Amino acid sequence: MNQEELFKKLIAHAKEYGYIFPSSEIYDGLSAVYDYGQYGAELKSNIKRYWWEAMVRLNENIVGIDAAIFMHPRTWEASGHVGAFNDPLIDNKDSKKRYRADVLLEEHIAKLEEKVEKEVEKGRKKFGDAFDEAQFRATNPNVQRSAAKLDEVRRRMVEALTKNDLEALRQLIVDCEIACPISGTRSWTEVRQFNLMFETKIGSVSDESSTLYLRPETAQGIFVNFLNVQKTGRMKIPFGIAQIGKAFRNEIVARQFIFRMREFEQMEMQFFVRPGEEMKWYEYWKAARLKWHQSLGMGDDSYRYHDHDKLAHYANAACDIEFHFPFGFKELEGIHSRTDFDLGNHQKFSGRKLQYFDPETNESYVPYVVETSVGVDRLVLSVLASSYCEEKVQKDGEEGGERVVLRIPAPIAPVKLAVLPLVKKDGLPEKAREILAGLKYDFNCQYDEKDSIGKRYRRQDAIGTPFCITVDHQSLEDSTVTIRYRDSMEQERVAVEALRGIMDEKVSLRSLLSRL
Ligand code: ATP
Repeated sequence: MNQEELFKKLIAHAKEYGYIFPSSEIYDGLSAVYDYGQYGAELKSNIKRYWWEAMVRLNENIVGIDAAIFMHPRTWEASGHVGAFNDPLIDNKDSKKRYRADVLLEEHIAKLEEKVEKEVEKGRKKFGDAFDEAQFRATNPNVQRSAAKLDEVRRRMVEALTKNDLEALRQLIVDCEIACPISGTRSWTEVRQFNLMFETKIGSVSDESSTLYLRPETAQGIFVNFLNVQKTGRMKIPFGIAQIGKAFRNEIVARQFIFRMREFEQMEMQFFVRPGEEMKWYEYWKAARLKWHQSLGMGDDSYRYHDHDKLAHYANAACDIEFHFPFGFKELEGIHSRTDFDLGNHQKFSGRKLQYFDPETNESYVPYVVETSVGVDRLVLSVLASSYCEEKVQKDGEEGGERVVLRIPAPIAPVKLAVLPLVKKDGLPEKAREILAGLKYDFNCQYDEKDSIGKRYRRQDAIGTPFCITVDHQSLEDSTVTIRYRDSMEQERVAVEALRGIMDEKVSLRSLLSRL
């Protein structure tokens, strides 16, 4: 199955099995807005809990807050979002499709990079053991030509973006001979800037001063509360403030399912440090966050760092942790060294001092900030994409045929276990309900007695339940049950009494947290 097919199947599966629905579907949906169904909501909440506990519980110097979505409009002037939170957009005149000019160029750069890597691979095959990669890269004319082109495109793109030179951006698209993927033509409009913030009004009087924005990032709610938290929590630098919450962006090109939405959720942590120490902490959080992702067990090779070519207006260093989505490596989390830009500007715009008195150095200063910012929805997508699996079943005791299974790691799986009486008679349902009653306070459980046991296993596989507890006639005699494992389909007989302990060990977040 190729990646495109996998992605289509995943979207269909997420809908069919209660994970993700298009928003207001009975009205034909709303573009780039999605609703989480019964299992999607559980998965999302488990992911959030894992992040929160890794941040707030495991780090003595990090606390969590929950700030409002609406903020004073001056916030967004101070943060630079009113002036600069823009995407450069360009339309193809034939297909009438709209694109982000920077994304078209980045995709072009990725293709050039691929070309270089293919040449290197060719060389590796040709020269075998004698292959010297560094020398090959430095001397092979094809590689040299592509690499030079690549550098040139990258340089011109960064320059155009930095200078906000929209004509230069368009010219670069023309010079690179980039064609619209839909119409195949190179007939492009001018490039225009488009602000991504959603506007709304507060109160009953509608004038300029009542304009509010839906926050495009959660970070600013942390910055404006910096002193509140520092003082009330008696926090000492370095310390962090974490937050999970909704953010809104009027994305121009909203495709790729829940990867790019107009309403989404972020988990951000702002770490306040002494000026001059930000690079040390930037490196620290880069490593810590990668480790957190890898602890989920989606495969270490599914992640990579990508350093930013063009830094945002607030940053002096920035990188993404990218994940290998079905449509390629794309940003999952951003790690940014934001300097004192935000606190400094809020100080200017509000007229209030946002400084920290450092008892160790006897100095007051505006702290520097290192931010980690990850999208909950992109995490959900990464988990679903790497969990989705179609396979043939050839296991004793299982009905043959095909199954679709979501191999979601047990600690974040929506339903932890299903209790299933083998048949719907002979007192088995009663026994099963009794067992369920003993487990439901600790775990999200399901009970199912309809259809054959094989069909019920398939249903649980499809929603990713890691364990099925099957109650059979022997259970009535010796109070034992079988645990059927989702991934291996192995079965194991255990005492009912031991179930809670066994399950707890397998599904508790402890197993993930202790890997950090
Ligand atoms: P991109 O380059 O993909 O537009 P970004 O660099 O604008 O993303 P940030 O501003 O760094 O993203 O936001 C931090 C995180 O928030 C991202 O890493 C991503 O996981 C998430 N995020 C940003 N925009 C969206 C969106 N439209 N839909 C879903 N998640 C998003």
